[in-house]
Amino acid sequence: MEAVFKMGASRIASAVNAGELSAKEVVTAYLERIAELNGKLNAYLHVNSTGARRAASSVDDLVVRGEKLNLAGVPVAVKDVISVRGLPITCGSRVLRGYVAPYDATVVNRLKRAGAIVLGTTNTDEFAMGSSTENSAYGASRNPWAEDRVPGGSSGGSAVAVSGGMATAALGTDTGGSVRLPACFTGLFGLKPSYGALSRYGLVSYANSLEQVGVFARSVDDLALVYSAMLGADPKDGTTTNFSWSIRDALSRGVEGLRLGVVVEMSGEGIHEAVSSALSTTCKELERNGVSVGEASIKHMGYSLEAYYLIAMSEASSNLARFDGVRYGEHPAFEGDWNEEYSRVRSLFGLEVKRRIILGAFALSAGYQEMYYGRASRFRTLLIHEFREAFKQFDVLIAPTSPTPPFRFGEKTQDPLTMYLSDVDTVPVNLAGLPALNVPVGTFTTDGTTLPLGVQLIAPYGRDDLLFTVASQLERSGLSSARVVEPWGRIV
Ligand code: GLN
Repeated sequence: MEAVFKMGASRIASAVNAGELSAKEVVTAYLERIAELNGKLNAYLHVNSTGARRAASSVDDLVVRGEKLNLAGVPVAVKDVISVRGLPITCGSRVLRGYVAPYDATVVNRLKRAGAIVLGTTNTDEFAMGSSTENSAYGASRNPWAEDRVPGGSSGGSAVAVSGGMATAALGTDTGGSVRLPACFTGLFGLKPSYGALSRYGLVSYANSLEQVGVFARSVDDLALVYSAMLGADPKDGTTTNFSWSIRDALSRGVEGLRLGVVVEMSGEGIHEAVSSALSTTCKELERNGVSVGEASIKHMGYSLEAYYLIAMSEASSNLARFDGVRYGEHPAFEGDWNEEYSRVRSLFGLEVKRRIILGAFALSAGYQEMYYGRASRFRTLLIHEFREAFKQFDVLIAPTSPTPPFRFGEKTQDPLTMYLSDVDTVPVNLAGLPALNVPVGTFTTDGTTLPLGVQLIAPYGRDDLLFTVASQLERSGLSSARVVEPWGRIV
C-alpha cells in the first residue's frame, strides 16, 4: 500500500469506510510524520495528539457500525484563527496565549461530522496580517521547497502542513490572498470561495467584509471533497448563502467552449518571467482543449491595493479592540491602574498589528472617514461593476497569483509596503467577493533551487463550480499537479 501521508482524501476515506485501513492507523502515521518534520518546518503551533487519537477511534466505531462518512479518517490541519473546541487558539499572537477555543467553528464542526480528524492548529502571521508568516509571534514557518524561502502567508502553516505531507488537506483564511499566496508558494491547490459560501462563525475576524475560510489540498478532487463537506448556509452567520451547483458535476464537465480572459492589468509589467511563462503555458493548454482565450480588462484595478489596505485596517482596528486582556487569553491578577494594565496587554501585539490598528483607527476617525474609508468603499463598488462587465465576455479569468516566485526570509520585512505589494494580484478578488483558485503550474529553477509556480483562476460571484471544472481539466492534462515535498525540495 502507498504510504499513508501521500494518499489523497478520497482514497483515505474509501479505505477507512471499507475497513481496509483504520482511522487510528492513519492518525498514528501522521503523528509520526509531524514528530519527524514539524521541528524543521514549524507548520503546527499545536499538535492535537490525544484528541486526534480519540476522534479516530470514534470514526472507527462508526465505520464498524456500518456508517459511511465522506471524510472518514481524513486528517486535516486548521489555521490558528479558526476555533476547534478544546484546542488553544492564539491567532499567532502573544495576546491570546493560553486561550482555549470553547466551541467548534461551523466549518470545523461540519468536517468533524463528515469523519475528518483535526490533527492540530497551524501557524499564521499574527491575526492573519501578513504574506510570509514572518509576523507570527511563534516564529515563521519554513517552505519545504527551499530552506531560505518563505512559504507565503498568512496561512503559511496550513500550506506547509499539506505540502510537507503532515496533513491531507487544511483550512486557511483568505482576507486578501492568504490561501492563494501560500498555495502558490508551496505548489498546492488553494481555494478562496465566493464570499458567503462558507460560514465564518468561529473564525476570529480580521476584516469581516473581505475574508473567507479557504482550503488547501494536493488534488482538485480532495479540494472538492473537503469544500463540499463545509458548504451550505449557516444560521449562525447571516452572510452565508446556498449555491445551486454541484461540485461533482463541475468536475466531470468539459471545458470546451469556455471563454477565458487573461487580466491585462495583472499580467504585464512587474511580473517575473517564470510566472508569465506559467501563465501562457496554462492558457495554451486550455486552448488545446477547446477554450477560447482573450484579453480582459479591469480598468481601475490598479487602485485595489490601496483600497484593500484601508478597508482591512479599518475593520481590523475595530475587531481587535476586544483583545483587552479581560475577556480572552492570559490575564494575571489585575493590580493597580487600569490604564496601565490595558496598555500592558495591548503592548503584547506585534509591530504589524499595532501599525494596522493605529492606521485603521486614524482612517475611521471623525473628519477622515469619508476621505479614506468612504472613498475606498466607493472604489470597491466600481471594481465589482468592472468585474461584472468583464464576466459578460468571459466565463473565467486568469492571472498570476503572485508577481514573483517565493521570496527569501527577511527580504520584505524592513519595509511594510514591499510586503503589501506581494498581495497586488490577490486583493482585487476579495474586494469583489469573488471565488478564486490557485493552481500549481510547474516549477522554475534558480541558483540550483527549484521553486513552485502557480496561477489563479477567478470566476463570477457564486460560480465556484467553474473553478473546479477548469482546474480539473488542467490536472487531467497533466499540467497541474501537487506533490508532497520534504525539506529541502525533495519531491516524494
Ligand atoms: N497579506 C494580506 C494582509 O496582510 C492578506 C492577509 C490575509 O489574506 N489574511 O492583509
